[in-house]
This record gives sequence, structure tokens and C-alpha cells, in this order.
Amino acid sequence: MVRLPTLTRSGLVHGFSTTETGSVGLTHAPDASPVLAARRRFAEELGVDPSAFTVAGAVHGCTVARVDEPVELIPGVDGLVSNRRDVALFATYADCLPVLAFDPEAGAIGLAHAGWRGTNGGVAGALVAAFQAHFGSRPEDLVVGLGPCICGRCYEVGPEFADLFPPAVLAPGGGDRLRLDLREANRRQLAEAGVRRDRMEALEICTLESPQFFSHRRSPDGSRFAAVVALS
Ligand SMILES: [Zn+2]
Repeated sequence: MVRLPTLTRSGLVHGFSTTETGSVGLTHAPDASPVLAARRRFAEELGVDPSAFTVAGAVHGCTVARVDEPVELIPGVDGLVSNRRDVALFATYADCLPVLAFDPEAGAIGLAHAGWRGTNGGVAGALVAAFQAHFGSRPEDLVVGLGPCICGRCYEVGPEFADLFPPAVLAPGGGDRLRLDLREANRRQLAEAGVRRDRMEALEICTLESPQFFSHRRSPDGSRFAAVVALS
């Protein structure tokens, strides 16, 4: 398991599962039992009850749901927020960016799944807005962690992305292609929503380059790693 030092110091229960834990993605798994076993192993590593896991369905949108009790799966959302101690927010990834957030003042947590579609739709901003709407959070109080994702050197996209993202998060790729820095695109969005840059921490790990994490581009077999956040 990999963790973010700032979130650890904030007293938050959180972590990113690795390939060593095994795939935790159910959607494309031919057999659910090894996936459920991996989820139980990860719960044990985190020190949380596996029945607390509440999974974001993840559809590359920007809908954020408030969780008031542990639920196996919340379909159709890419973000979750909660202020309950019996809930562990859970989402799965393979190149998309995990965005974890904590409001120590309101005692609330949030988790988002940000691929290019969700980022383009503003899922990180929607996560901040959900903290404000549900818990009266002030964006400047939020502590935000960005997990492993495909990096700005590896993530080649088509020329049409010039119409979707600001030039600051795009670089030239091969031929007419571009490269997208998903992490920086989300950092900018969070900053625009009022999150302080000095309260954001990113794990500068590339899922495509690091064998520690599942990558859809390296092996498109449906394997996923998890990000989890819970109140201690
Ligand atoms: Zn990379």
C-alpha cells in the first residue's frame, strides 16, 4: 500500500492498493472471488472493516454523491463525500487520477475518480462544491491528495484535446498529437475552486511506468487498483 505523507499526518485513514494486493476491480473481472479477496486484504492493511467500503460506480462523469451509511456500490457517480465514521470511500483506477480530500474543520472526507472526461467535466471542482453544499466546508480548509495516474509524458491524446483543455496542461506529442497532464489539470481546477496549492499533495507516480500499479494502457485486462479514504 502507498500513502500520502500529508494526509497521514492529518490523521486520515487512506491508501492506494498496489499490484501486490491484486486487482480490486469487479466490473471486468471474469471471477469475482479473487477480487473480493484482494479487497478484504486491502481492508485489513488499512485497518478498516471491509463492510465499510462504499464504492463509486465511476462512469467518467462529474456527479458527486453524499454517503450517509455504508453501501456496497453507488452507481453512476465519480465522486463521494461523507462525514460518517463507519464509511470508507472506495474507487478503482487504472491510469485515471484519484483525488482524495479531507476537511479537518468539518470532519468530512471526499474521493473522486478523474480521467480526461471527468476532468473536462469538472469533477474535482464538483467535489469541492459537494463539501461546501453538504458540510459547509471552506475550500481553503481542505487538504487534498492526488494519487498515482498516467503522467504528462506518457498520456498521448488527439489534437482535438486542444479545444478541451488549457494550453498550460498540454504539451506536444508525436506528429499532431498532444500530451495531457491530468494531475496538473486537476490541480488547476482545485485551485480555481479555492483549494490552497500548499494544501495539495501529489504522488508523482506514473501508473503506466510503475509496475506497482495497474495501468489500462500497459495491460487493458480490467485490472484496477483502489484508492480509499476514511475518517479515523
Ligand atoms: Zn509516465
